[in-house]
Amino acid sequence: MTSYIPYGRQDISQQDIDAVVEVLHSDWLTQGKAINHFEQAVADYCGVKYAIAVSSATAALHIACLAIGLGEQDYLWTSPNTFVASANCGLYCGAKVDFVDIDPFTYNLSIDELTQKLNGADQQGCLPKVLVPVHFAGQSCDMEKIAALSQQYGFHILEDASHAIGGKYQGKAIGCCEFSDLAVFSFHPVKIITTGEGGMVLTNREDLYEKLIRLRSHGITRNPELMQGESHGAWYYQQLELGFNYRMTDIQAALGSSQMQRLDEFVSRRRFLAQRYNYLLQNLPITLPRQHPDTESSWHLYVIRLNLDKIPKTHRQVFEELRQLGIGVNLHYIPVHTQPYYQNIGFKWGDFPKSEEYYADAISIPLYYGLSKEDQNRVADNLREILT
Ligand SMILES: *Cc1c(COP(=O)(O)O)cnc(C)c1O
Repeated sequence: MTSYIPYGRQDISQQDIDAVVEVLHSDWLTQGKAINHFEQAVADYCGVKYAIAVSSATAALHIACLAIGLGEQDYLWTSPNTFVASANCGLYCGAKVDFVDIDPFTYNLSIDELTQKLNGADQQGCLPKVLVPVHFAGQSCDMEKIAALSQQYGFHILEDASHAIGGKYQGKAIGCCEFSDLAVFSFHPVKIITTGEGGMVLTNREDLYEKLIRLRSHGITRNPELMQGESHGAWYYQQLELGFNYRMTDIQAALGSSQMQRLDEFVSRRRFLAQRYNYLLQNLPITLPRQHPDTESSWHLYVIRLNLDKIPKTHRQVFEELRQLGIGVNLHYIPVHTQPYYQNIGFKWGDFPKSEEYYADAISIPLYYGLSKEDQNRVADNLREILT
């Protein structure tokens, strides 16, 4: 019996385990020093001023939207080729959500589509307040062009970099926020580094940082300078806005700091395996992932697209045959606008055809730090047999 190869998986070392155990023996399981330490490690790595650890990337996206001031009557735009959380954060704030179709080359939101849509929205007076570019599979969007459009049309930029810690754009770390107001990472176990569940918001703006810190913890401040009126004493705090408990525990943060020490190793192994797939899968009736020259992907996903007119099987057959052989393939993503919830608020099949064409032939094949060459060969061999 051959083993099951998942599409993604965490890698936990003895050092990671020791770091977690150390916190368990300490006085602080949450709201202790491990959080600051993890935030500093990520901020230093990315070259960004502020980093705020939270309980998930979903929470990070939510408070990032609130910090920007997204509210009712406002629009958030994102890519349909993403996890639902990139769009849901807008709805949490009472805002309206719309999508920008993808570029068939990178599968990121298309700059041409964005330019056209902004032009139309400008004429109708319904420009977005925030754009959420998603760095799909770890490859950055064309941030310089997006930033130029944000200058022209006056929207904020919140990068959903859930896939992309360890990746680069124009030689700088994704998350540096050179071309954005805010960026968000996810530390779910299938992502590049993990804290079990967890996320982070990054920004260079002090005003956003102050708000994010409060929104993470009920909207409460203990800083007398920010209070209305006088402090009543050493116990005193004030709730200034409606926040949440979106805190990360110190147990998770210790795991995160430990994982950060291997981030570059994780990404270079993923890059190596991706290049190896490029070689192993050449000459098959599939399209391999393509990279924009300004980007260095973190390789969260390796997505192939089936050239179905050259394959005697359907997309679904190929997918299911791989699963039956123990290859844990997946499909990233079902276009968000086609989800029943989004259809109920007015979207329909046909709205974003490039993302729907992509959905009809894309498959994510296994890629993770601990994937052995032997298992990778098995994926490639099985794929070759099924396709030819
Ligand atoms: C994983 C993911 C999220 C959500 O991350 P959580 O940490 O699980 O909340 C959001 N956006 C994208 C693009 C993701 O891949």
